[in-house]
Amino acid sequence: LWEKCLAIIKDNVNWRTYQTWFEPIKAVSLNDNIVTLQVPSQFFYEWLEEHYVELLGKTIKRVLGKAARLEYRIMMEGSSSTQRNPASINMPGSTHTRPPKENNFIDMPLKWDDPHNIKTPYAIPGLKRMQIDPQLNGNYVFDNYVEGDCNRVARSAGLHIAQKPGATSFNPLVVFGGVGWGKTHLVQAIGNEVRRLHPNKAVLYVSAEKFINQFIDHAKNNEINDFIHFYQLIDVLIMDDIHLFVPAVKTQDVFFAIFNHLHQSGKQIILTSDTAPRDMEGMQERLLSRFRWGLNADIQAPDFETRQAILRVKMRHEGLEIPDDVVKYMAYNIQSNVRELEGALIALFAQATLNKKEIDMDLAKRVMKNFVKTAAREMTIENIQKLVCDYYHVPYEKLLTKTRKREVVLARQITMYFAKKFTKQSLKTIGDHFGGFDHTTVIHSCQTVENLMETDTEYKENLMELLQKVQLASI
Ligand code: ADP
Ligand code: MG
Repeated sequence: LWEKCLAIIKDNVNWRTYQTWFEPIKAVSLNDNIVTLQVPSQFFYEWLEEHYVELLGKTIKRVLGKAARLEYRIMMEGSSSTQRNPASINMPGSTHTRPPKENNFIDMPLKWDDPHNIKTPYAIPGLKRMQIDPQLNGNYVFDNYVEGDCNRVARSAGLHIAQKPGATSFNPLVVFGGVGWGKTHLVQAIGNEVRRLHPNKAVLYVSAEKFINQFIDHAKNNEINDFIHFYQLIDVLIMDDIHLFVPAVKTQDVFFAIFNHLHQSGKQIILTSDTAPRDMEGMQERLLSRFRWGLNADIQAPDFETRQAILRVKMRHEGLEIPDDVVKYMAYNIQSNVRELEGALIALFAQATLNKKEIDMDLAKRVMKNFVKTAAREMTIENIQKLVCDYYHVPYEKLLTKTRKREVVLARQITMYFAKKFTKQSLKTIGDHFGGFDHTTVIHSCQTVENLMETDTEYKENLMELLQKVQLASI
């Protein structure tokens, strides 16, 4: 009878498909209208089920009658005997029609004796998909993800993917960049956006660390098949911090299998890493080459503008009011990562509340001392010199000579003025820093600057702008 079925199938698929997917199948029994087919592997079974379920179903019904049903046996790898694989269950009778419980969200592990978790060989109308808790944080959305030069490519790729998960050329999307630069926020935002636009897609966010632990647990209990199968049910898999896979060789193997299956089935894969794929030493080459299939987008440290914008978004979220100069000051002084910026914001708010004080520059400076690594970054004469040179486009070396060129004289006077104002250095030391002017020159320069400020508004405006820069750079 199976021969008859094969003949029909042969007519309906091309030769290669037939050879690949149907010739290896063995019909092992026929009892009570149940045809049992033996297939070589779990993957094989899933492939059949995904691609040829209808054909198989129609064919056996035609040959054996309407009541005919399919059952699979999977040949276990590494063993010669054929075992019944618990995953390959055909669900006769009542289980077919039993509706799944609403909201039976599951986390790992999946158990095959739970009828809702079994993929049925036949698509059953009205049977809803298994629901998986996506493990997403609803606060990480695109709305509050500030766009900047540092993340533009990754962000727009993310938005694009969310529209058409699995159907863009950005598969996988690999987002990489330093700690606290917004990788997790971005990939979670993609997940949340997919959920909004495609409520039926199974989205799962998982950290590589959790994935490794789950894998170890399942390996202990001989449940690796369940583990892999669970992940193969996902439509959009978001795996955070995959650099953690580097020492975990077995995890790389299993992730490789899952990756291939998902990718082949047109499912979306999104990965993050704190190292660029090309620098991931210890990651299997076959994985690295797959990471290159899609888009590798790096996130840079957020720039000054972006840091300010992020602070404003966070303030709005917390309902905080913070003066502009304080926002600038914080954004200027915390450059390493956004998490620290947030920490500073919270500390500032806490101080203000506890001491019943307004949030102002004074308070900000005190709070920030705990956050800026080079605590109390003392303004040095050199720093001021550089800032001024930068502002007036005067070469630094020129400033250290006794030239009388107009623009150098101007810059020198202003630098001396700021040095006197912002450092605790003596007039002599200040003079020495300019190639050996004496203290009277320093005094004279400061007087000139003050006079010009009184009389020349443009000069004053420039100076105020420069003053702000110097203040921002100092504690
Ligand atoms: P990473 O995963 O790269 O270490 P996160 O995504 O955890 O960094 O970001 C750290 C914090 O900074 C999070 O609270 C996140 O909301 C915030 N953050 C980072 N980048 C941005 C951004 N562009 N816009 C808004 N918030 C951001
Ligand atoms: Mg992260």
